Amino acid sequence: MRFQFCPHCGSKPVLKEIGDEGLVPWCENCKLPLFPMFATCIIALAVNEDGEVALLRQGYLSQQYHVLVSGYMKPGESAETCAAREIREELGLEVSRLVLTGTYWLEKKDMLMIGFLARVHKQDFHLSGEVDQAVWVTSQKALTLLHPYPAISYLVADYFVQHPHALDLPNQPAEPCGVN
Ligand SMILES: [Zn+2]
Repeated sequence: MRFQFCPHCGSKPVLKEIGDEGLVPWCENCKLPLFPMFATCIIALAVNEDGEVALLRQGYLSQQYHVLVSGYMKPGESAETCAAREIREELGLEVSRLVLTGTYWLEKKDMLMIGFLARVHKQDFHLSGEVDQAVWVTSQKALTLLHPYPAISYLVADYFVQHPHALDLPNQPAEPCGVN
């Protein structure tokens, strides 16, 4: 959102040269820069110990495709706290580990999305009222059920397909090389 008026005093902003930022909308009355504002959301792929991933059906988001856990960040919250909270709220699962997959700009909603893989324990879902249904599927299957590339949900799931050990703890023993 680009400010047409100062949200504090209602004055019309002018453009002012501010350091490396170049020309920035500026309120002369409040002596404040009025940088454009945008929402920040998390999007998370919950992965269980068998390597299966949780996909959701949420009719208000898509009739055609499954979706991932997602939600708006609250002021004062870290992206990690938000991701764990959203997975708890939507699926009823506790997160033990998070790995960042990337950050993504969602043009049509003017929104920054922060992507995570989240380790959860495989158990029955306890769905929120916002979720119609949830299923465990393989990551390969997930790519066929999500909105296709380059949708952000697809990119997050594809990160796990490309990095299947991303959630493994670094001190876990290596795979056995073979049997003598
Ligand atoms: Zn002002």
